Amino acid sequence: MADEISKAQTARPGGDTIFGKIIRKEIPAKIIYEDEQCIAFHDVAPQAPTHFLVVPRKVISHLSEADPADEVLLGHLMIIAKKCAADLGLTKGYRLILNEGPDGGQSVYHLHLHVLGGRQLGWPPG
Ligand code: AMP
Repeated sequence: MADEISKAQTARPGGDTIFGKIIRKEIPAKIIYEDEQCIAFHDVAPQAPTHFLVVPRKVISHLSEADPADEVLLGHLMIIAKKCAADLGLTKGYRLILNEGPDGGQSVYHLHLHVLGGRQLGWPPG
């Protein structure tokens, strides 16, 4: 976790990201779902028994850069998050997280939703 925080302190928006490479199938990922607007795949460093990401194909570096025209797309990400959570059997609940900027802990500047479940999650987050 300390490693993730230090990554978030140094990461900055701009340029292609690892998620662009996954979307273009240049590097592998454990893909759960994809459509013309987004892709969902398992996080490579899971923080819960189930931890996956929902990523729009459109590059929006972070939420602050989203445009009002992205409203439907952002809603779609949540609909796909709940569909994938149901498909993966998260019947007891789960958590959606969107990390924004250094203080929010964002390390990859291609907007994404985290979905975590499969254990009791604590509150507040660290
Ligand atoms: P964030 O810190 O909110 O930007 O989240 C980025 C997430 O991307 C982290 O949870 C990483 O573990 C995850 N991640 C980084 N590279 C990959 C990859 N190649 N495949 C899947 N997940 C990744």
